[in-house]
Amino acid sequence: MTAAGDRTHDPALRSWVASANAPDTDFPIQNLPFGVFRRLGAGARPSVGVAIGDRIVDLAAVVGRGLVSGDALLPCQACEDDSLNELMALGPAPARAVRLALSDLLREGGAGEAHAAEILVAMRDAELFVPARVGGYTDFYASVFHATNVGSMFRPDNPLLPNYKYIPIGYHGRASSLVASCAAVRRPWGQSRAGDAGPPTFAPSRRLDYELEVGLFVGAGNALGEPIPVGRAEEHVFGLCLVNDWSARDVQPWEYQPLGPFLAKNFATTVSPWVVTLDALAPFRAPAFARPPGDPPPLPYLAGAPERAGIAITLEAWLCSARMRDAGAAPMLVSRGNFTDMYWTIAQLVAHHASNGCNLQPGDLLASGTVSGPTKESRGCLLERTWKGTEPLTLPTGETRAFLEDGDEVVLRGYCERPGAARIGFGECRGTIAPAIPASRPESMNYR
Ligand code: CA
Repeated sequence: MTAAGDRTHDPALRSWVASANAPDTDFPIQNLPFGVFRRLGAGARPSVGVAIGDRIVDLAAVVGRGLVSGDALLPCQACEDDSLNELMALGPAPARAVRLALSDLLREGGAGEAHAAEILVAMRDAELFVPARVGGYTDFYASVFHATNVGSMFRPDNPLLPNYKYIPIGYHGRASSLVASCAAVRRPWGQSRAGDAGPPTFAPSRRLDYELEVGLFVGAGNALGEPIPVGRAEEHVFGLCLVNDWSARDVQPWEYQPLGPFLAKNFATTVSPWVVTLDALAPFRAPAFARPPGDPPPLPYLAGAPERAGIAITLEAWLCSARMRDAGAAPMLVSRGNFTDMYWTIAQLVAHHASNGCNLQPGDLLASGTVSGPTKESRGCLLERTWKGTEPLTLPTGETRAFLEDGDEVVLRGYCERPGAARIGFGECRGTIAPAIPASRPESMNYR
């Protein structure tokens, strides 16, 4: 057992699912992230599952075979659904009971092995979905490095606005355009202006970008009018995932004043399929970001968060162009950063969001904002990585990239590793850019 955890974190624990014991798997028995899948083929419905190695445990089948009892029975029954919302609503203790029960079923010698054929589905035989019905989606701006870099491009004299170190900046995003990993992302049309003067044009975005972010799914909600104290905020967090907040950089500067991001952001946001619970992340807790001397302390309602309020997650963005795929080239690593570089903790984001009495609901998604660190290699979007396009990347094919081209695939990855703990990962958050809808194609108007 590790200092930070219980028997589910024991790095020596092995599973009878052989692929879960591979040293580089994202889904060893110490992880057990939740998601929603559907068996490929006619007639199958979406269903709640847990990732183990290259397999998915079908929780409805686990309940159906009578493999859980006691504290785990009710929350496992909540998983007989097509989303995680019901389980999320129950709060942290029931989800912990499911985790303990599954750890015992899946460990070497566990009772699940005799039912392997009924309770396991190969990931390659399944489609994965956005794991919750998301009622509200909020995107924050929690990296001071990202905020400073972007600010210095658009406001060289005044890169970081005076509110930044006091208030977690965020905006309400659009839940309807959250898409699952692997869904194509169509290049949006939008208004932009070539320079600082003259009228705008309406055209397909020429500065399409990704943003590497961590998403937080709300578990138990709070009643309207009742804030969440920062010291209890993590009790309202079900778990974390990866988010790609696709962004049209030419649309953004023209439309964002004075009310903030709008159509530059809401045409698609990709969400990774597996939700890694805070229980699974317990061995990887870290001190919160150390504010440099001279920075103001957080106001009292955002202060006093847990001592290890940070989480050490390595985050990577990979790029593969259509020509690279055709040539059989491997994707190229564009950036690698860490979630501990965020100025605001997840507890502070949740507490701030509810501080005015705003009610968070089970399945709501709060994204961190682009995760960028202090180095060039840790900048989590192309806008920063290519410095507004002035320092393009060179791909293995000799192509260059300032922003994304049609056919480019972006893969986000996240993982946690440290001596004395089993490595766990988030899987992938993957999306490929599809060409913009052509002008004057009336048959493309879909009403649904
Ligand atoms: Ca964002």
